[in-house]
Amino acid sequence: MPELPEVETVRRGLETALKTPAQIAKVDQRRKDLRVPFPKNLKKRLEGHEITRFGRRAKYLLIYMSSGEVMILHLGMSGSILITKGHRPEKHDHLILTLKNGQQIVFNDPRRFGMVYLCPEEDLETHKAFANIGPEPLGNDFNGPVLAEKLKGKTTSVKQALLDQRVVAGVGNIYACEALFEAGISPKRKAKTIQGQRAEKLVNAIRGVLKRAIKAGGSSLKDHKQVSGELGYFQHNFKVYDCEGENCLGCDCDIAQTNGIKRMIQSGRSTFYCPRKQK
Ligand SMILES: [Zn+2]
Repeated sequence: MPELPEVETVRRGLETALKTPAQIAKVDQRRKDLRVPFPKNLKKRLEGHEITRFGRRAKYLLIYMSSGEVMILHLGMSGSILITKGHRPEKHDHLILTLKNGQQIVFNDPRRFGMVYLCPEEDLETHKAFANIGPEPLGNDFNGPVLAEKLKGKTTSVKQALLDQRVVAGVGNIYACEALFEAGISPKRKAKTIQGQRAEKLVNAIRGVLKRAIKAGGSSLKDHKQVSGELGYFQHNFKVYDCEGENCLGCDCDIAQTNGIKRMIQSGRSTFYCPRKQK
């Protein structure tokens, strides 16, 4: 499932590949719904209008329109966006926007867990997708004291708390595992104990991991692609995620004695960690 770095990679790719403002000449909506129905009159509300800029909030891509509306797009489990020209629609292409200059934005999603909304720009903050969402981890509103406050009194594990989008936006299973490893914090530790220096350390680790992942074009485990169709390559830089039994990098544990990185299940999701480094 795409997390913040994958969506940010797509946003940056769109920004680089398309010159804005870019007029949408044609909308080809190829089915009625994905996880939710497509917005009413989507074609009419987009055609002839210009894309003014691209944004992102949490795991949602934002496409700002000259009409005053914003298209909110979630890639679901398996969605990808391709920038191309003269595209012949393929299976699972659900929305194709053709720009006046011939460039095309193709939204493909085999599992159809994606979502597309259209909402007036002034209502964005209160849109149901964002109403209960926490601070952007790479923004100025996220720091040690803010995280500590969010986790105060929480008796769930810190790993589970990080997956809660109200605590911090856009962090999912992969980057939660990687950040906890980097911060040397056990995923089993009670969330409420992440205070003071420990909260600072975790915030820095989250930011560091996300930034490096964005730089690598995100992680391509199954479906994530950059808008050029290229894969991201941060999956080759995972230190713990999906590394069960492997040696742990930047740690002095002896694999012969410890059997390497451990995996456990927390709320139905795999957590990867090193019990020696992470306390
Ligand atoms: Zn270790």
